Amino acid sequence: MPLSELGPEDSGRNIVDIIFKSSWLRKDGPLYKIERILKVHNTQRTIQRFEDCRDAVKSHAHASTRKEPRSAADGNELLRFHCTTVSCSLGSRGSTSLCSNIPGCRVCTIIRHGFHAKTLRLGSGSNEIKGVRTTASSGRAHDALRCFDQRRAMLVCRVIAGRVRRGQSDAPEDENDSCSYDSVAGAAGVYTNLDDLAVLNPKAILPCFVVIYKVSEP
Ligand SMILES: [Zn+2]
Repeated sequence: MPLSELGPEDSGRNIVDIIFKSSWLRKDGPLYKIERILKVHNTQRTIQRFEDCRDAVKSHAHASTRKEPRSAADGNELLRFHCTTVSCSLGSRGSTSLCSNIPGCRVCTIIRHGFHAKTLRLGSGSNEIKGVRTTASSGRAHDALRCFDQRRAMLVCRVIAGRVRRGQSDAPEDENDSCSYDSVAGAAGVYTNLDDLAVLNPKAILPCFVVIYKVSEP
């Protein structure tokens, strides 16, 4: 079973609940209600691919002349959010089974097949990047998913951010150099300077929890 429900007595549930709530950061934003918190049981193969990404970043950092202590230490692992659609009954009435509405139901597609890099832009005027957008906060992840669904899935993920390209000024001089970055940061935000981060390799994102929640208005 790839997913299991975290019950109220589960300490993991409280932790996920707290990180979701504390980073909603939208006092005037829509009210939300958490329906279910599910834990993702990743396969050994998925975990191995994630660890391979970390090892690649670490060995790159060790070989590089640039000082990148975080990358060298743990691949610059971060906890990130990614909001997506849920079009099945996952999470309701205790359901933990994935649907087969692929590609219609995005949360089930991600849990089954992992993330997929898409062409995206972090803010207007910035260049197109092929990657997966992740955010530092649940509130921003919610906003980043432009849709009218009131019921959504918030994925809480471990990410190997590796070497981060920050802003346009840091842009590589030639295209060949772009592969030396593992992720691209959006413009510095209000809360952190990594509000938005596009992760170039989708395998460097490991979904750990799924929060099924509902907002009062999209
Ligand atoms: Zn589904």
